[in-house]
Amino acid sequence: MSSIQNKTDVILIGAGVMSATLGSLLKELAPEWDIKVFEKLASAGEESSNEWNNAGTGHAALCELNYTSEKSDGSVDISKAVKVNEQFQLSRQFWSYLVSRNLIRNPQDFIMPIPHMSFVEGEKNVAFLKKRLEALSGNPLFQGMEFSDDPKKLKEWIPLMMGGRPSEEPIAATKIDSGTDVNFGALTRMMFDHLKRKNVKMHYNHSVEDMKRTSDGSWELKVRNIDSGTVEHHTAKFVFIGGGGGSLPLLQKTGIPESKHIGGFPVSGLFLVCKNPEVVAQHHAKVYGKAKVGAPPMSVPHLDTRYIDNKKSLLFGPFAGFSPKFLKTGSNLDLIGSVKPNNVVTMLAAGVKEMALTKYLIQQVMLSNEKRMDELREFIPTAKSEDWDIVVAGQRVQVIKDTEAGKGTLQFGTEVVSAADGSVAALLGASPGASTAVHVMLEVFAKCFPQHMTAWEPKIKEMIPSYGVSLVDNPALFEEIHTSTAQTLGLSQKELVYS
Ligand SMILES: Cc1cc2nc3c(=O)[nH]c(=O)nc-3n(C[C@H](O)[C@H](O)[C@H](O)COP(=O)(O)OP(=O)(O)OC[C@H]3O[C@@H](n4cnc5c(N)ncnc54)[C@H](O)[C@@H]3O)c2cc1C
Repeated sequence: MSSIQNKTDVILIGAGVMSATLGSLLKELAPEWDIKVFEKLASAGEESSNEWNNAGTGHAALCELNYTSEKSDGSVDISKAVKVNEQFQLSRQFWSYLVSRNLIRNPQDFIMPIPHMSFVEGEKNVAFLKKRLEALSGNPLFQGMEFSDDPKKLKEWIPLMMGGRPSEEPIAATKIDSGTDVNFGALTRMMFDHLKRKNVKMHYNHSVEDMKRTSDGSWELKVRNIDSGTVEHHTAKFVFIGGGGGSLPLLQKTGIPESKHIGGFPVSGLFLVCKNPEVVAQHHAKVYGKAKVGAPPMSVPHLDTRYIDNKKSLLFGPFAGFSPKFLKTGSNLDLIGSVKPNNVVTMLAAGVKEMALTKYLIQQVMLSNEKRMDELREFIPTAKSEDWDIVVAGQRVQVIKDTEAGKGTLQFGTEVVSAADGSVAALLGASPGASTAVHVMLEVFAKCFPQHMTAWEPKIKEMIPSYGVSLVDNPALFEEIHTSTAQTLGLSQKELVYS
């Protein structure tokens, strides 16, 4: 059975953090617009945005070494770190706006203060970390970062990691207390609860199967009601494809020229999770190490204190792997189904170019649990296998496209692909990910609603005071925003006690 539904202003496909952010921004900017959400699962935030499916790092480039690369002259390039930090500040401000207006509550349920640390071993890496600190220390966004290569100091910072560690190898770490752990699953659910109160129509167990343009330039979606098995048709003037890993197949269905010559490469993830509360209690930081040779940037190992369900947890990973699924709940046919005549050359070129990555992923898939424990023991030398379980994380579909660097280049960032007339936009890629959701959605607005931007600007500035302003160039504004958002989000308290 099939039915035609009424036309709406906006359809958001997928109930992850990206659609939640877009919907929440739009409800402030254009409250009169009707919004519908279609999600194929039974509730919001169940795929990559779920707290167990990602690492929950508020990515502000405080500890992730892949955002600061060493240049050929030996100096450290911090431009990417500055960019990621500025983008995270936009999210902080918008979350703070939502909390201050009581649109979402209890910020401690989705964001917690946690020191962000980088940890390295070996003389060369220690020298790099020192140089990195010097390069960042003059920058207002990275104030308060400390360096130490003194085992006594390191024992104070990371006692669990220092216990039983052989003393011969030089080691060092940096630490900055203004880092955060973000429960993106909780945040997503809170934003959708708020949207529901604002009359956004949530359709769970509804899978979008096809999209086609109508004669008036709108989009008609073929949607399957999974509970009843019926097919519905819904139309909208603007569609956001926020399907996470499921975005690429939907983008391909639009047939827009911008969707051609793009492929996707899925990378799966696993975490080790600690089940011994005594061990969990001994660590209080997110500690990022250095990526192994051939490893993609998103599989840098890290040992993370997390706050999930108001409980302190300890996770290590992610271990990358290969699965042909585009979503954790996807199908083994996803990858092959995404190969089309227009992207087959791009995909094949990537296959040839990325042999090192393929080799790395195959090695990761083959890892036994004991081998994974060995990797953990590089962080916690005394780790016992019986204290740790494996959890399967979300899928990340990396974008493959033709760039100046050549055909079939694997991209590790996020990418907004939109139609020339701004009627549809899709978000591809997953890094830095949820942390930069607000920045990504401002990009969607600039591409898809240029005609509204002048009218919307005052409201955007009310929600995000640093909109359009570089915080690096305005340290006083950064200080003011950092202090006020910390207060609203409850990040200024030094430590909260959790069992
Ligand atoms: C292992 C791992 C670690 C990560 N760590 C971090 C981190 O530390 N910090 C960070 O900021 N980011 C991190 N990320 C990235 C972050 O999780 C993602 O960028 C973010 O969650 C993506 O949100 P989304 O809304 O686009 O997608 P999702 O949360 O995946 O939501 C997409 C939704 O669309 C639905 N959907 C798909 N297709 C259809 C369809 N046809 N019809 C209807 N519904 C559909 C899906 O069911 C899903 O619910 C990590 C990701 C992974 C996998």
